[in-house]
Amino acid sequence: MKTTPHRHISDVRHEQLYAPRHEDPYFDAGKPPQDARCPECGVVFHKGRWAWGPTPKDAVSVTCPACLRIHDQFPGGYVTLKGPFVQAHRDELKKLVVAREKHEKAEHPLERVMAIGERAGSLEIQTTGNHLARAIGNAVRAAYDGNLKVRYEADENLVRAVWTR
Ligand SMILES: [Zn+2]
Repeated sequence: MKTTPHRHISDVRHEQLYAPRHEDPYFDAGKPPQDARCPECGVVFHKGRWAWGPTPKDAVSVTCPACLRIHDQFPGGYVTLKGPFVQAHRDELKKLVVAREKHEKAEHPLERVMAIGERAGSLEIQTTGNHLARAIGNAVRAAYDGNLKVRYEADENLVRAVWTR
């Protein structure tokens, strides 16, 4: 599942992903015991939660759960947009995805788009979190109608959204 030199560390997290869903190993791994700042994206951990804002005094440097997932290429959500409409409106749809990420990320800093993959006839979007995958699916459906199916996979703690038009 994982092929980087840090394989042993990541494998532990991956195995833990099959634990009950309230135990999110990425969240736990990224929950520091004190105020912190992620050196990669600048999100800060303060009063028990990750949020955008000024760096707290005495903040330590801790990579946030979203950046950990991005490193591991281990998404928390997948959105597939497919069908003839997608083929013809690729750029429009990509803009919508990026705009939705920006909107959601402002409120939910650990919800990020990891990748937008382009295939013949489809766009494959990977997100760091469940919430954003749903939000993108809903936004595309609200804007362009079509057919949306969202499935939550509890054993893997991830959301798969498939939109077709
Ligand atoms: Zn980060």
